[in-house]
Amino acid sequence: MVAEILREYGLTVTEDQCAKEKTKVLKERKVTHQEHFARIFDCQAEIFRSNLDTAFEIETIPGTIIGSLQRMLSAKLDLKDGKKFTVISDKQSGLVKAIQTVILEAEHRQCSRHIMDNWKRRSHDMELQRLFWKIARSYTVGEFNGYMLELKNYNPSAYDSLLKTNPRTWSRAFFKVGSCCNDTLNNLSESFNRTIRQARRKPLLEMLEDIRRQCMVHNAKRYIIACRLKTRFTKRAHAEIEKMIVGEQACERWMARHNKHEIKHGDMIYEVDMSARTCGCIKWQMTGIPCVHVASVIIEKKEKVEDYVVDWYTERMWELTY
Ligand SMILES: [Zn+2]
Repeated sequence: MVAEILREYGLTVTEDQCAKEKTKVLKERKVTHQEHFARIFDCQAEIFRSNLDTAFEIETIPGTIIGSLQRMLSAKLDLKDGKKFTVISDKQSGLVKAIQTVILEAEHRQCSRHIMDNWKRRSHDMELQRLFWKIARSYTVGEFNGYMLELKNYNPSAYDSLLKTNPRTWSRAFFKVGSCCNDTLNNLSESFNRTIRQARRKPLLEMLEDIRRQCMVHNAKRYIIACRLKTRFTKRAHAEIEKMIVGEQACERWMARHNKHEIKHGDMIYEVDMSARTCGCIKWQMTGIPCVHVASVIIEKKEKVEDYVVDWYTERMWELTY
C-alpha cells in the first residue's frame, strides 16, 4: 500500500499510518452497511405504498451469501409448476438447481454463446464456430442431426465434447413450442447487468435506488417509443414478415385436402397445415410469425401474411409490456 500511494499520489507514508487509516475506513463502511440494512424495511414499506400489487419478502441472512431467492421467486410471482415459463441463463449453478427444484415444468434454456465459448476454449477454428451456430439454430431434429453428423466427420473429439453440454437445452430443435420466442442467447440479462455495474459498487440502499431509477427511466422511454409506433407490429416483426414475403418466391406449392399444402423449397419438402397452424420447418410454431412456406400459401390464397402473426408482436402488446 505504501508503494501504491507513492506511485499514485507521490506521497510518502509509513506502514503504521496505512494500517490506522485502513481500520478507520473499514469501521466507517461497517456503520454505513448497518445503517443501510436497518433502513431496508422502510424501503420495502415505501415500495408497497407506491406499488399496490407488489409482493415480496425480505430475509436477512448473516454472512455474504444470498439465500432463499428461488423460493421467493416461485411463491411471489405465482409461477406454480412453471409450465408456462421459459427461463434462459448461463451456466449459473445456483439458478440451474433452483429451476430444477422449484419450477420443475419450466423450460430452461442455456445461453448458446456461453456454451460455445466453453466448448471451443482457446480454439480459433472458424469451421467449428460455423457448425456450432448451424446446430444451435436448427429448428428441426433432422437439421440438428445433419449438422451434428457434419461436425462428427470434421472433428470427432469436438463432437464428443459438444454432446456432453446437453444440446437439448441450447438448440432450437428441442425448444418448447408456445413461448413464441426462438432466442438462444441471454443478451437481455447480460446488457441489464452491464448497465447496473456502477450502481453495484454503492452501499445497499443507494444501489437499489440507482437501479430503480434506471429501470423507471428505461421503461418510460420504451413506453414513449411504443406509443409513437404507427404500425400494427413492431419494426423487427415487420422486417421479419417482409423477409418471409420476399423468400416465399422461392417456394413451389401443391394443395392437398383439409387445408394442407406441400411446399418445395430448395431440396426440401415441407408440409403446411393451415388449420393446425403448423409447418414442417417448425419456425411458424416456434416464433408465431409465418415462415416462407406458410407465406407462400397465404399469398396464393390472396390473404395477408400479417393476419397470421401472433398478437405478441403488436404495438398494443409492446405498450402493455412497459
Ligand atoms: Zn416452414
